[in-house]
Amino acid sequence: MKNKKKDGKNFDIFVIGGGVNGAAILRDAAGRGYKCGLAEMGDFGSATSSSSTKLLHGGLRYLESYQFRLVKESLRERDLLLNLMPHISWPLQFILPHNKNLRPYWILRLGLYIYDFLAGSTKLPKSKSIDLRNHPAGKFLQQSYKRALAYTDCWVEDSRLALLNILDAEKRGAKAFSYSKVTNIQQKNGQWIVSVKSKERSFEIKTKVLINTMGPWVNSFDQLDNNKKNQSMVRLVKGSHIVVKKLFNHDSAYIFQGKDGRIIFSIPYEKDFTLIGTTEVEHNEGIEVKCSDEEKKYLCDFASNYFQKKITVEDIIWDFSGVRALYENKTVEARNASRDYTFEVEEKEGSILLTVYGGKITTHRKLAEKAVSKITSILKLNRKEWTSRQHLPGGDFKLEDKEKIIEGLLEKYKFLNTNWAERLFKTFGSEVENVLGRAKAKPDLGRKFGYDLTEREVLWYINQEHVRCVEDLIWRRSKLGLRLTSKQIRELNAYIKKLN
Ligand SMILES: Cc1cc2nc3c(=O)[nH]c(=O)nc-3n(C[C@H](O)[C@H](O)[C@H](O)COP(=O)(O)OP(=O)(O)OC[C@H]3O[C@@H](n4cnc5c(N)ncnc54)[C@H](O)[C@@H]3O)c2cc1C
Repeated sequence: MKNKKKDGKNFDIFVIGGGVNGAAILRDAAGRGYKCGLAEMGDFGSATSSSSTKLLHGGLRYLESYQFRLVKESLRERDLLLNLMPHISWPLQFILPHNKNLRPYWILRLGLYIYDFLAGSTKLPKSKSIDLRNHPAGKFLQQSYKRALAYTDCWVEDSRLALLNILDAEKRGAKAFSYSKVTNIQQKNGQWIVSVKSKERSFEIKTKVLINTMGPWVNSFDQLDNNKKNQSMVRLVKGSHIVVKKLFNHDSAYIFQGKDGRIIFSIPYEKDFTLIGTTEVEHNEGIEVKCSDEEKKYLCDFASNYFQKKITVEDIIWDFSGVRALYENKTVEARNASRDYTFEVEEKEGSILLTVYGGKITTHRKLAEKAVSKITSILKLNRKEWTSRQHLPGGDFKLEDKEKIIEGLLEKYKFLNTNWAERLFKTFGSEVENVLGRAKAKPDLGRKFGYDLTEREVLWYINQEHVRCVEDLIWRRSKLGLRLTSKQIRELNAYIKKLN
């Protein structure tokens, strides 16, 4: 390999793939004192982990396929994560209208009783019945929908979640490389030798433990390592979302049932928009991951069966798609395939390979804890679990204090308006004052890039949050892509390119 530098990077644990699972494993391992590193071929969280429905949830529909263990663990994690990252997650009420041609009301009611029961003791409200004829959520639905059930799960900013795990891991001594692809792997003398290639350089690292969190690429590991040949059954299922202008003016989300047995969500999104998703389409590796015309039409028609307003593909402002890597066989329908995760561990001549299959955003912390505990026990070390007690960066405050803190920000930074303060706080949490510093007036924040984005914020993303190109900033660190004009995006792109 040209320009190969043997710069002697030796690790205890090295992770391939910087989605939410890889990032959480890196953080957990770093906090337990391992010397660890991670390579991600794109931006951190740029694949499935920024294309989810963004829910911390048990997954009501997984009860139908009897995934009780997963639902229970997810509900417990939902509550825990809400406390550890209250800036990027918050409770969200869901309205489930009863459709008399589909699941009977008593089944829905029973499902939610079980859901409440599996959640155990939680601060979130229990499910309840509502009369849509005199409820604000009923106003936007067709009149045939008269009653509904309401229950509460949580929202999470998925791409920032992956990033915050990386940033916290780095604070604890880990090394994380974005836009760095693992191109080759060899086993030698009880170690893995991993070749990593980025635009600027190629390098090798050595590690005793290698972790494959490559998500939809999990089986590509075999192409990197000539010795591994026993591929596990992985099923790739694409899911797409569309974003349209705000369809309703309340804070609850809807969960709609379809004639095909599936459900979709319509969720308040970034204040002025509604997020609708998702689809489930079998996917083959190597094919571009994008929302097809059929999927767009499917989502518009599905939602139009419920809302008074008809939604058409012309209403779509943005769409995104991601691929689930499910550990399953192909005999069950995609909607019933298990969302649970599993590990495969191989030990050879003293080196260890742990492969992660499946998983959800909601279970990322628990998955990481179990993975690192497994490695710790194989290595016969005594390094304790810790992530259930430590906030993610910016999350060290109580959820119920959020409004008060935002009021404090408006008081301190008089030039902010409420929308701007809320957006910054939901992005940076308690670190927002580090971003704004001693600014007294808007000009102190430097050049304006459009909407409320200033040079100070852009520089923070570049210097503190690994932003390498404009897409990282407008779609993953923030969702300002929904607000900026093409011209503003081009100018921002030029600015970022000059600095990187
Ligand atoms: C449509 C959809 C909706 C979902 N909604 C929810 C939800 O609401 N709630 C929930 O809990 N879960 C949800 N999920 C599931 C959740 O998004 C995934 O389980 C999770 O994001 C998987 O994370 P990951 O880290 O395993 O994979 P990924 O995020 O895909 O990360 C794998 C990474 O590996 C990198 N990689 C691959 N090969 C290499 C290489 N050779 N070198 C370096 N890097 C490499 C890739 O670039 C990628 O970034 C949803 C999934 C989908 C598809």
